[in-house]
Parts: sequence; structure tokens; C-alpha cells
Amino acid sequence: MVELKTDTSIDAMYEAGQVVARALTAVREAAHVGVSLLELDELAHDVLRAAGAGSPFLGYRPSFAPTPFPAVVCASVNDAIVHGIPDGYRLRDGDLVSIDFGAKLAGWAGDSAISFIVGKPRPADVRLIDTAERALAAGIAAAVVGNRVGDIAHAIGTVCRTAGYGIPQGFGGHGIGRQMHEDPAIPNEGRPGRGLPLRHGMAIAIEPMLIASGKDGYHEAPDGWTLRTNDGSRAAHVEHTVAITEAGPRVLTERH
Ligand code: MG
Ligand code: MG
Repeated sequence: MVELKTDTSIDAMYEAGQVVARALTAVREAAHVGVSLLELDELAHDVLRAAGAGSPFLGYRPSFAPTPFPAVVCASVNDAIVHGIPDGYRLRDGDLVSIDFGAKLAGWAGDSAISFIVGKPRPADVRLIDTAERALAAGIAAAVVGNRVGDIAHAIGTVCRTAGYGIPQGFGGHGIGRQMHEDPAIPNEGRPGRGLPLRHGMAIAIEPMLIASGKDGYHEAPDGWTLRTNDGSRAAHVEHTVAITEAGPRVLTERH
């Protein structure tokens, strides 16, 4: 069931989204060579505490997971696509890092992700991340009243495929509100004009995931959480929480 949010609720979701935005900005600024993923997780946790917000990630256990998620961020490095568990790994020059982060404030959830390069970038990684951000922007631009879910999916998929990148099947965006994961599912590839009509008051997370090699294959790591590319090629993941309104899409996790 898709819950439509009131304008007041969307304003409250924006406040939750801004906690997420601040944490991701802080993590990005701190992510230098030699810093560990656990240190980044702790930094994000500090932002939650300072805001009086909770973590929808910590202790989260969806049906596929063998254990509750042990951290407040997902940290996915190089061939990890999403759901990486922060550990003592220390960032190296040229790493491609994706950080996914959520917050819950006054009962409302925000969810956003960034991909970036630590130290000296490889041109191929710059292009991959740039394309992920363009796919996200295209998905957001399609998140307008009168369109359908398939129009968002098609917009994302077209940017990714045209650039020659793979798209892991079975994972993508979602409705969001009092829960981090609500209906509807927002796939990263699909047919225009199909699916649920978009209405004023819908709140969704849009989150393209791209695989550099152009192949779609991925597998679950032995930790039961991390998804890695089958061919070892690098991946990018970016995400925003967006409200669909009569005035156009409103990015609730926008960073300033
Ligand atoms: Mg997320
Ligand atoms: Mg999400």
C-alpha cells in the first residue's frame, strides 16, 4: 500500500533528510587515505546523536539477511555495490567508496547515498560516478505528477545502459516515510508509461546502482550482506529521498 504524505509530513521528512545530508557531507570530508570504515561509521553516528535522530540501519534485518545490520552506514568499496559492513579496512589511494546512510527523526525516515573517490581518481571511476549522478538526476526529473513508476525506472536505466554500464537486478529504490522501506518498489530499469501513477504526496528513494564492466552479475559475500560484482569490476551507488509534489520533485536529502 502506498501512503500519501501531507505537506506537513513532507516538511518533517525534509528535516530527517537534512540529518542524512549533513552526515554524508561529514563522511565525505573525512574520508582520506588511511581512515577506516569504522571511523566513518562512528562519525555518522555522532551526527545522528547530535541531531537526536535514530538509525534505521542499525539492527535492521530484512528477510535476506542472516544477521541484524551492525552499523549506521553501509560502506561499499570498489567491487562492493551496496550493503557493505563497515570494518577496520583503511581507505587506500584511488578507492571508489559508496556510503549509504539513513536517519529517523521525529518518526520520519531519510535515506541517501553518495559515491566518491579517495585520493587520486582514475578517469574510469570519475566517469562511472558522473553517470550514476546523471542517472539519479534523470530519475528525479521523471518523478513528477502524471508520470508513472516506469517512467522513473526507464529514465535511470537509459542513462546507465547508454553509457555501457551494468545494472544489478533485484535491488533499487522504494517508497519511504515512517518506515525506511515502503511501497512502491522503484526499479532501476523499466518501461515508460507502466506501473503505478505518481501522485502528490508520494515519497520515494531513488537509487541507481551501476557496474563498470557493463555486466549485471553480482553475488552475496560470505558476510551475508555485502553485494559484490561477479567480475570484480567497480560499482557506484547514489541515492536521494524525493517527495513528489504538484510543484515538482522535492529532494529531501539535498546537500548544501
Ligand atoms: Mg539507502
Ligand atoms: Mg534506499
